[in-house]
Amino acid sequence: MTIQGLNVGVIGGSIAGCAAATALSRAGCNVEVFERSSKGLTDRGSGIAIPGQLRADLMERGYLPRDFPNCEMKTRWWQFPDNTTQGRRLWTQATPAFANNWGNLWRALRRNVPTDNYHEGRRLSDFTETETGVVAQFHDGEARNFDLLIGADGYHSVVRSKMHPQAKPEYAGYVLWRGNYPEAEVDDKSLIDAIDTDFAWLTVPFEGGHGVLYMIPDLDGSNMPGHRRVNWAVYAPCPMAQQLNGIESVPPGAVEKAAFVEFQRLLNDDFPKAIRDLIAHTRHEDVSIQPIYDSVVDTYTSDRTLLIGDAGTMARPHTASGATKALEDALSLEDLAGTVDDLAELLARYDAQRCAQAKTLSQIGRRIGRAQVLETPDWGTMSSADFEDWHKAIMSGDTLYLYGETA
Ligand SMILES: Cc1cc2nc3c(=O)[nH]c(=O)nc-3n(C[C@H](O)[C@H](O)[C@H](O)COP(=O)(O)OP(=O)(O)OC[C@H]3O[C@@H](n4cnc5c(N)ncnc54)[C@H](O)[C@@H]3O)c2cc1C
Repeated sequence: MTIQGLNVGVIGGSIAGCAAATALSRAGCNVEVFERSSKGLTDRGSGIAIPGQLRADLMERGYLPRDFPNCEMKTRWWQFPDNTTQGRRLWTQATPAFANNWGNLWRALRRNVPTDNYHEGRRLSDFTETETGVVAQFHDGEARNFDLLIGADGYHSVVRSKMHPQAKPEYAGYVLWRGNYPEAEVDDKSLIDAIDTDFAWLTVPFEGGHGVLYMIPDLDGSNMPGHRRVNWAVYAPCPMAQQLNGIESVPPGAVEKAAFVEFQRLLNDDFPKAIRDLIAHTRHEDVSIQPIYDSVVDTYTSDRTLLIGDAGTMARPHTASGATKALEDALSLEDLAGTVDDLAELLARYDAQRCAQAKTLSQIGRRIGRAQVLETPDWGTMSSADFEDWHKAIMSGDTLYLYGETA
């Protein structure tokens, strides 16, 4: 069976789903995307980092427009609280990457999928592989036949749970607080001006976690100083006052008031004033909490089914690789589809390329989580040389684009 003319159903119309649909349409497949949300996906978007080379490839190959907006990140300033406003610089780490607004990235990828082939408000409830294909069952009662079903349905993947019923996401033991708001709301811009001179972003390490802050383009694409968004995230133990519901994030508007008070206390106790002020500017109702989970599987494919993006593997956000992994999965699909003889070869080679790499990424994320959240060192006593050694030990010979490392 050649790839050309295959009927492909993609479950999930986010980053991975839209990119996979483009990849396989280019290989001559008839692709339809089924997204459970009926109201578009743009409004929750915040910061997404991707490597410069991937960004260039996506533009070169027409996945993103040439003028796709981003904010460049060259260095990471590790700032420790002292009696100064901005804190003491512990380490300046090279981190070549590009920050994007999630909403802009999704909209650009979504535009590549013809509207007639993107079905909103369609939730997959089950599927069955047969001798000749896959029967996908949707919650509205409709059943559809495909030659190939792609699970791009994210961290809660129905496709993954049917392929790997034994693989359950594991809670990492801490959460990620997130927020962002327009830069125009900032009164004192001195810290933002300072980081702009070095294309820097900020990290505040504390006992039991750390916070990061970086600038991202606004949803209208503006990426000039004064017109971006201030985007931040803080890794910390789950607040006592917030009940988590499994792997579900606590969306903006649902964070308990008492939990938010705990968060404000953390900012007051452990952050330099200038960084605390930038984070604390965010309104309670705009803050969300994401429990950190790991999820890995032994294979990304079966005879008629394939996993992509977070549905395949959830790597911790420390690796800044959720979108990167999904996009690289899709580019790999396009490349392979142009060279293989049949579907079986496509599935085997995709699995070999992508699944093992995702497992390594997951291991890197766990090691970073242990070192930067669960078993933090005595930050204030560390020199730059100590940081370099500590970082080398975390990476254990593996590489991550975020640190300018290539395999
Ligand atoms: C609205 C939204 C906002 C996000 N914002 C950020 C952010 O600000 N920062 C960040 O780091 N990451 C964010 N993410 C996560 C990030 O997009 C992913 O980690 C990464 O890009 C991989 O994307 P994905 O397509 O594999 O998974 P996801 O982006 O999670 O997409 C999975 C998609 O599948 C759909 N879906 C799930 N189950 C079904 C089903 N049964 N039937 C049909 N459709 C289904 C979901 O509605 C979703 O659109 C966001 C995800 C979403 C959906």
